[in-house]
Amino acid sequence: MTKDERTLKINLPLLNTRMKGKRDMKKRILTGDRPTGPLHLGHYVGSLENRVMLQDKYECFFVIADYQVLTDHLKETKRIGEFIKEIVLDYLAVGINPEKSTIFIQSKIPEIAELTTYFSMMISLARVQRNPTVKEEIKASEISEVSYGFVGYPISQAADILSVRAHLVPVGEDQVAHIEQTREIARTFNRLFASIFPVPEALVGRVARLPGLDSQKMSKSRGNAIFLSDSSESVRKKIMRAITDPARIHPTDKGHPDVCNIFRYYVAFGNPPECEEIETSCKSGKIGCVNCKKRMVEIINGFLKPIREKRNHYANQSGFIKDVLITGNRRAREEAKKTLELVREAMHFDYKDLLGKDN
Ligand code: SF4
Repeated sequence: MTKDERTLKINLPLLNTRMKGKRDMKKRILTGDRPTGPLHLGHYVGSLENRVMLQDKYECFFVIADYQVLTDHLKETKRIGEFIKEIVLDYLAVGINPEKSTIFIQSKIPEIAELTTYFSMMISLARVQRNPTVKEEIKASEISEVSYGFVGYPISQAADILSVRAHLVPVGEDQVAHIEQTREIARTFNRLFASIFPVPEALVGRVARLPGLDSQKMSKSRGNAIFLSDSSESVRKKIMRAITDPARIHPTDKGHPDVCNIFRYYVAFGNPPECEEIETSCKSGKIGCVNCKKRMVEIINGFLKPIREKRNHYANQSGFIKDVLITGNRRAREEAKKTLELVREAMHFDYKDLLGKDN
């Protein structure tokens, strides 16, 4: 029996009970993704690989943030369920292990919405509007009338993180501004009511920002991303049409790897001697961009091969994704309920004297 087959036979609820004692001793991580499509290489180097590495050291919660889809895809809710499944498959394929980590859907935890309401009163409008990432996203979205929910989504993200009282948040560089906002909210709550929340730290991936193949920010909607689920042929086509050093016309021209997209991918996915060799050959005009890209196709396809295989394996296991999510939702809710009990009590929102203990 292979390791994956053994994994599939695991009784997740039973395992959760067994793991409880161990979990209580560990610090927590919370991070996640919006279900707007499959995950790409930027997600991998920005956050996913850190999540996989830290699974043993921390108790991990990974939220699939469906409320956040509404910020700029309000009329495209039909496919959210399908994208949730894709993201869970991506998680499992890169090595996130549901035996160790909790994967859950944001809207299935009503306590997060309640926490968002409280937190939205603890931060000023000016502060929310100053968030540089939100400003950039609003500009890129080209939405004519931006909703209140769009500007305020980092507050909902703070509620995700603090609902499980997380200590660490592995994120891409663009999310650091949001974590700073979360830290401010945690401090404000602790100062005003009771010291319930850890002040979480952001953990940025080893490659702060991997550009898309057109040099712009890598994004599902811009069509410039390589997805973890892409076929080898799709990877080849995407890389071969990527933008490189614009000043380079002939293969013998001296190149500038520091301004080349493909070179950024060598740094992220190649080994150090290979990077050095490409850098020297490019600068001295000894390698053409076509050959350089062909080598990159091999590297990326080599990296994605086991991920594709694992993804296919899980995609064929009927009911497994559902089990992972049901178990994850239950576990995340259990923790969020504990947090909300503490929060309501600290804020005098439990009304025990008025309504009795259980109402
Ligand atoms: S040779 Fe490679 S590193 Fe140099 S510009 Fe072309 S693609 Fe970029």
